[in-house]
Amino acid sequence: PVMPLYRGRFAPSPTGPLHFGSLVSALASYLDAKKNHGSWVIRLEDVDGTRCKTEFAEQIVTTLHSYQLFSDENIRIQSQHSDIYEHYLSLLKQHGHVFPCNCTRQSLAQNDGNHPLECNSSIKKPHSWRLKASSTVYQCQDRIQDTLIFTDDLKNSPVLKRKDGFFSYQLAVVVDDHLQNITHLVRGADLIETTAQQLHLYHLFGWTPPSICHIPLITNRIGDKISKQNHAKPIENSHLPTLLRALHYLKIDLNAPTTIAEALSQSVEAWDPDKLKALKDLPLEEQDLYF
Ligand code: GLU
Repeated sequence: PVMPLYRGRFAPSPTGPLHFGSLVSALASYLDAKKNHGSWVIRLEDVDGTRCKTEFAEQIVTTLHSYQLFSDENIRIQSQHSDIYEHYLSLLKQHGHVFPCNCTRQSLAQNDGNHPLECNSSIKKPHSWRLKASSTVYQCQDRIQDTLIFTDDLKNSPVLKRKDGFFSYQLAVVVDDHLQNITHLVRGADLIETTAQQLHLYHLFGWTPPSICHIPLITNRIGDKISKQNHAKPIENSHLPTLLRALHYLKIDLNAPTTIAEALSQSVEAWDPDKLKALKDLPLEEQDLYF
């Protein structure tokens, strides 16, 4: 089949219900895909079996659907594809890009929680698999943030497979974006710090990375990003006023649409990521502090 030129995705980790900040991210990725006549898929990034719950996954999808955000293809569920991540990890092993590690949180604490450049780990004891540190400096042209230059991000030997057997977000996100032919990432600026490691994995696999776009974060009264960790409340389903407020932060102010469907189609026309350039973050306005 001929793939469309633009394939985007929203890839939530189901560690809690969808909050206002994640609705804004979901909308940004959706609007950008639709504005570019592309397809848009939902992917559930539930590789961390200790934090992700099926009930949250179901709630997130129900909420997205209630805002008419439907995946153009079957929703991919990462926890069903461990064999694929194992395969790609084995390629990295064959090429000597990863090493087994038995370091514990306590032992790393002596090094500020960072992994030392080397460790004498035994493959016979329980171990994780870490990516070898690299001094490569990656750069990318972010559509909103302009040039991102990552100087120190690969010193830390990120874990690709944990001691408990779960794969990390970093490996799964790169493998899936590649296998799903994702051409454009549009996601929250909190993920900028994960980008260098992802670019490194693209490089090691010999794959072309997607176009990258990080949208500014919604922040609360004290300037922290709103997140499940600081108790951002779940949003109501099918609630047009909530949708309009989310669009407002994406610099889309519509002229009194009466349905969610109408609001979405008007928003596709109005979407312009350039309007988000040069904004450090998006502080919640008084009327939205509830979120
Ligand atoms: N699953 C990641 C998260 O919820 C986002 C993945 C991405 O957009 O790259 O934080």
